[in-house]
Amino acid sequence: MLTREELKEIAKMRGEGAYFVSFYLNVNPMTNVKDNYVIHVKNMVKETAEKTDKAVLKKIGGDLEKIESYILSNKRVLKKGLALLSSQGKKFWKEIHLSVPVKNEIVVDTAPYIKPLLDILDNYQRYAVLLVGKESARLFMIHMGEIEEYTEVHSEDVPGKHKKGGWYALSEKSYERHTDYHVGLHLKDVVRELDSFLSGEYVGRLIIGGTEEAVSKVRNMLPQAVADKIIDTFQAEMFANSKEILEKVEPILKAFGKKEENNTIDSLLTKSMKNENAVLGIENVLNALQEGRIMKLVLLKDYRQAGLACGQCGYLTVQKIASCPYCKGKTENVQYIADFAAQKAVEQGAFVEVISDNEKFREAGGIGAFLRF
Ligand SMILES: [Zn+2]
Repeated sequence: MLTREELKEIAKMRGEGAYFVSFYLNVNPMTNVKDNYVIHVKNMVKETAEKTDKAVLKKIGGDLEKIESYILSNKRVLKKGLALLSSQGKKFWKEIHLSVPVKNEIVVDTAPYIKPLLDILDNYQRYAVLLVGKESARLFMIHMGEIEEYTEVHSEDVPGKHKKGGWYALSEKSYERHTDYHVGLHLKDVVRELDSFLSGEYVGRLIIGGTEEAVSKVRNMLPQAVADKIIDTFQAEMFANSKEILEKVEPILKAFGKKEENNTIDSLLTKSMKNENAVLGIENVLNALQEGRIMKLVLLKDYRQAGLACGQCGYLTVQKIASCPYCKGKTENVQYIADFAAQKAVEQGAFVEVISDNEKFREAGGIGAFLRF
């Protein structure tokens, strides 16, 4: 999974005589009928080789070869977007599979080029999950449907039950006080860890799970800024694995996502009604796309509309026209025009938000966009 911490480390890398090849590829099967991204890769590599200085090319020749052969031998694992960062001179190789499309790009430089990855981090909601108990805590992150465990906080000095009446030799009451004291210290550790994790990774939302008691205790200890990020809480055992945690959290995320989707649609409908930098309907969207005005494309998950694409310049339309009004190129039928629109939007630096379901939006055509101007 993509993390800001890891990207920060990558961003610090410098060639010191060596070069980095940063390669981004749209591998969305919808817009790449018959794996035609393979052709794009060959062309991109060829173009890069042609325009790169001979001395530099000598250093990155191996990187380009490795990237090309990676694509050919890893078709099965591809999702929608792929990022490969390579520097044979620095013995560095990193592959990142993305469930969102990216713009096709190769950048050769003395440092890795990671802006597209940072943009994805900024624009696709990430959720932190804190699992907390009296003696330990675990932190997870969820991004684009994937979960990963990050860190574990284990406070050694919380006295366990087995020590009761042992060498602590404490009365029941002072034992409890003693335990409370240590649990308090442990939870303070947890809060500190959580706070630094959230600010370091810029995670916008938080879900807390664990035993009822620990959850409510830690909740009361959180700084307001962190408490404001909580969406919901749940109960779980401390030893639950990542998959079990994800299963517990999924309904919470679903409900929250639904609420956010509805807000997006309400804002889209209101703004477009007032003519405030928003449009609705496929024709308006395609026009705005042609003019490079889209900031965020919004569409229903099951939006299905056929259309035409210009084979030469990529102009998209739902009107039945034989040749492109811009370049006179021949138009071709495409089954799902929204996928082509989404890819074009991404190439213009816009974001794409897919709405799982919304009746008002469906009635309004199921596709729309927030505009830059
Ligand atoms: Zn055209």
